[in-house]
Amino acid sequence: MAGKVLQLTSDVQYVKSVGPARATALRRLGIGTVGDLLWHLPRNHLDRSSSVPIGKLVPGQTATVAGEVLTCGERRTRRGGTQQTVTVADRSGVLFCVWFNQRYVLKQFRSGRQVMLSGQVQVYGGRRQMVHPDFEVSEDAPDHADQDAAPLHTGRLVPVYPLTAGVGQHWLRRLIHATLVQVAPQLDEPLPDRWLAERGLAALSEALQQMHFPDDQAALGRARRRLAYQELLEIQLVMALRRGGFRDRPGLALARPGDLTRRLVESLPFELTGAQRRVLAEILADLRGGRVMHRLLQGDVGSGKTLVAFIAALFCIEQGYQVLFMAPTEVLARQHGQTLRRLAEPLGVVVETLTGSTPASERRTILASAGAREVQLLVGTHAVLQDQARLPDLALTIVDEQHRFGVRQRGESARGGDDDPVHLLVMSATPIPRSLALTLYGDLDLSIIDAKPAGRQPVCTRLVPARREREVLDECRRLARAGKRGFVIYPVVEESEKTDIKAAEAEVAELRSGPFADLRVGLVHGRLKPREKHAAMDDFASGRLDVLVATTVVEVGIDVPEAAWMVIQGAERFGLAQLHQLRGRIGRGGGEAWCWLVPSGSLTQETEARLRYFADHDDGFALAEEDLRTRGPGDLWGVRQHGMPGFRLANPLRDGELATAASEDGRRILAEDPGLQTPRWSRLRARLNGQYGDLVPLATG
Ligand code: ADP
Ligand code: MG
Repeated sequence: MAGKVLQLTSDVQYVKSVGPARATALRRLGIGTVGDLLWHLPRNHLDRSSSVPIGKLVPGQTATVAGEVLTCGERRTRRGGTQQTVTVADRSGVLFCVWFNQRYVLKQFRSGRQVMLSGQVQVYGGRRQMVHPDFEVSEDAPDHADQDAAPLHTGRLVPVYPLTAGVGQHWLRRLIHATLVQVAPQLDEPLPDRWLAERGLAALSEALQQMHFPDDQAALGRARRRLAYQELLEIQLVMALRRGGFRDRPGLALARPGDLTRRLVESLPFELTGAQRRVLAEILADLRGGRVMHRLLQGDVGSGKTLVAFIAALFCIEQGYQVLFMAPTEVLARQHGQTLRRLAEPLGVVVETLTGSTPASERRTILASAGAREVQLLVGTHAVLQDQARLPDLALTIVDEQHRFGVRQRGESARGGDDDPVHLLVMSATPIPRSLALTLYGDLDLSIIDAKPAGRQPVCTRLVPARREREVLDECRRLARAGKRGFVIYPVVEESEKTDIKAAEAEVAELRSGPFADLRVGLVHGRLKPREKHAAMDDFASGRLDVLVATTVVEVGIDVPEAAWMVIQGAERFGLAQLHQLRGRIGRGGGEAWCWLVPSGSLTQETEARLRYFADHDDGFALAEEDLRTRGPGDLWGVRQHGMPGFRLANPLRDGELATAASEDGRRILAEDPGLQTPRWSRLRARLNGQYGDLVPLATG
């Protein structure tokens, strides 16, 4: 092996002791290169750092001992197997170690050798013993170059790795250790030393080594802290790069307000809430200020974000500018278009809507009049507006992301370019905790609407066992007969899955011929053509349908004030965030509303507790935190669903302080180098490309 230098990008197959078969097994763990091996982090560590004198061992205790091998032996058991016995002694006593059918053990133990053992202590026939202890025998003549003198399996904090068939714990430990010794010193440090010092963070190479084989708990804590910071920073940068990266730059200063906003506010049948006024002041200050606004407007469903955004739009329009309003889906775009037009028309403001299903001739007309400054507010889907709309007097782009985190979209501005002075307002309906928002939207300023308009009643939510589904449906029928419209939601894993759609279709047939026989029942799901989808939604909105059976396509923002009830089938398959979004679709008219959660079978205690928590809580922020707490950092708010790898080390809830630090640093980096193209940040860029692959947009000139 001498002379051959391992690179991070080398195929793991060429690492000593691996070979093709083992490489195939490693690939199942997501390990293809030497670098992947280093980033295969332990699930946890076993504390085997301090050894106990054999004489002090207590039965039942899990302990580590250090001693000398006295004897080794093997005998046949009555069942025809073999039993290996090794005795080990220190000055305080003798320990018997027993294995069954593990002949290899005897090759390693020789009398006189020093060993360390970890296992559970038993008393058998009056003797202290351990069955199948983990062990480490010191070699008298280490003949492997990669065999370090330090123990790996006992006598220390021992890493425990996720495994797969053909990859054993001991073997992987040795492999990772040897690779670390060889490769970690060449690991590039992506951050400047001065930053690390400022933040009190360990160097990456050091952190990685200590994350695998920590000197002690404190070192492990420091390592975890650095790697969690790294993860938070990277996720934030990837999100920001996908949004196009922002630079603090001069923007349009909107300094000559007219009277549209005042006229609108006066015409509303209600007062703005205090929270709405506060965030509006933040937004208007940005628009007046002369710097480009990059602001995230966050608020629970129904908190009145759309209205705030519209007022901001009017503020631009009354000064002679144009505004784009981008929605994530066709359904939402059309709905926003209708709502905004209703509000805008009395003020003489022209609103047009453009989506993928707008007929070509109509589209040309709309684009032409937008280009001729005849349209003041253009509403549509991200895709269409981004590709086609060119507004000569564009001052503000509003992006309704709902809970989509903007992972799939990039570059919200329809003009783009570094000198683009257009302001950006992103709306998110997901009440994610502030610390998580910092990571996912760290490059945006944050405005939070934290109170709902007064007088809203919480939706009465019940968890009902599957066997009582019929009672629920009968109740729904009564409500529908009394003129209250409602939804039946089916969980669909993939809107593209034929089998799931089939199941929903079968259910509709069953409802129509059974409990809902005298009701008008429609169906929407993700595989319908847009035209069919809109027809069903419109029928429901206008009251031509009593019941809308839907997959989660309704989740995103549909607004039918008359919808008063909802049955969520297979409720256990939804996360709290998603359930919250779904429930937000009903009771929007202000009256009483009911939501039933019907699981598809019996529930684990944990799931039941989660659903009960949901039934008892109405506040999106509380639900968000509970979701984080119970589901852990792995799949926060469906981050992974939306294309981001989940958090592996960081938990933005617990690591709030780190998230804040990472977010500040992310901003500093992007302000300095929006595309991470200068030599100073090239190593960070390389890491992002390596870790997040296709999610990272290519650098553009
Ligand atoms: P969001 O976009 O946050 O889900 P919307 O702006 O769509 O919320 O508002 C939800 C509903 O509440 C709309 O019908 C809107 O007219 C109404 N609304 C907004 N602000 C207020 C308020 N201050 N008082 C009463 N109703 C309001
Ligand atoms: Mg809304």
